[in-house]
Amino acid sequence: MPTSAELFAKARTLIPGGVNSPVRACKSVGRDPLFIARAAGSKLFTVDGDELVDFVMSWGPMLLGHAHPGVTETARTAMLKGASYGAPCPAEVAMAEAVVAAVPGIEMVRMVNSGTEATMSALRLARGVTGKSAVVKFEGCYHGHGDAFLAAAGSGVATFGIPGTPGVPEDTVRHTLTAPYNDLDAVAALFEASGDIAAVIVEPVAGNMGLVLPAPGFLEGLRDLTAKHGALLIFDEVITGFRVAYGGAQSVFGIDPDLTCLGKIIGGGFPVGAYGGKRRFMQRISPEGDIYQAGTLSGNPVAMAAGLATLLALSKADYAGLAARTQSFAIALADILRAKGLPVTLNHIASILTLFFTDQPVTDFASAKTSDSALYARFYGHMRAHGVNLAPSGFECAFTSFAHTDADLDKTLAAARSFAG
Ligand SMILES: *Cc1c(COP(=O)(O)O)cnc(C)c1O
Repeated sequence: MPTSAELFAKARTLIPGGVNSPVRACKSVGRDPLFIARAAGSKLFTVDGDELVDFVMSWGPMLLGHAHPGVTETARTAMLKGASYGAPCPAEVAMAEAVVAAVPGIEMVRMVNSGTEATMSALRLARGVTGKSAVVKFEGCYHGHGDAFLAAAGSGVATFGIPGTPGVPEDTVRHTLTAPYNDLDAVAALFEASGDIAAVIVEPVAGNMGLVLPAPGFLEGLRDLTAKHGALLIFDEVITGFRVAYGGAQSVFGIDPDLTCLGKIIGGGFPVGAYGGKRRFMQRISPEGDIYQAGTLSGNPVAMAAGLATLLALSKADYAGLAARTQSFAIALADILRAKGLPVTLNHIASILTLFFTDQPVTDFASAKTSDSALYARFYGHMRAHGVNLAPSGFECAFTSFAHTDADLDKTLAAARSFAG
């Protein structure tokens, strides 16, 4: 098999940057990507013959571990019956039923093919329902690569107040208002200044500037402000859905959003997203209502089968146990690095953690950016050389899974102990 270096050299002549999604290129840590031959449980196996304990887990989806036997077998069985029909299939109904049962704020749901599609569709619905145009998003939050969401979009796109990328018209960006995460006063000021806000979209636990938790009262305040001003509250639970709890962050924090976006875990590794919410809003979606949204492969039978198998397994999983194991691991890791005199701030919830290389508490994008990226790049390189795959950016989360063993976590701590700083 060609090596990672050979594959990457060839890929760069054929695919922009050699990758099909930018962060995989490992540019921000000054490395080249590893090419993966296969994955199982908590492990990645590279084409170069190396084995790594994985804390990226496909950027979140693989909460049950890679190549989970139940999910794999269900997908295989489904595939033998045809990969796509372009007509309804039973698994779509079962999937919708499982999602509605799991997520408190979802009374009706529409399947799409990615998190990006879910957030774009949810915003269109919010605009259609309210007859307003603007959206409030938070600095450092990422909602996929839709035009409306690329301003101040976290680790991938980090420019403040201007379009996040060439190719997004000024006209579109005009309708995107940004506020610092955890800053209710800033949101209130935007509502005072503009009568045209259709929605506030938020990651109820932010995972795209590294992990940042909502301050007490922040999500409640967003619920009150949006209700008062006739805007919809959209929870982007693409990371947090089925991860911080089976019912998502909304079930943990007790907030009732109007719309919820899902992705990542819901597909069990297949390309699936979903958006759902209050029946009176979702009934506005075509063909029941007048707001158009469609997808040739949406509700794909193989993806639905894999997603459903994932949700069934997760509905019986020990989330509290995984959260407790992850917490002790995260604290041990932080202690090891602090003992070397390194500045470490640990943010943790459930099976998600980020170690920021800073002395300050990290509560928003500005404080996240005080983290020492050069130090993170060295840490990343050291851990990778010792068989541990961390996210190739200091502004990302580490994800544990139900497949991570004590031996995996001990191996990771041992690797950190030998880091020179
Ligand atoms: C990953 C992510 C998205 C985009 O999902 P894709 O499937 O990559 O399009 C949207 N929102 C959040 C919070 C995400 O983490």
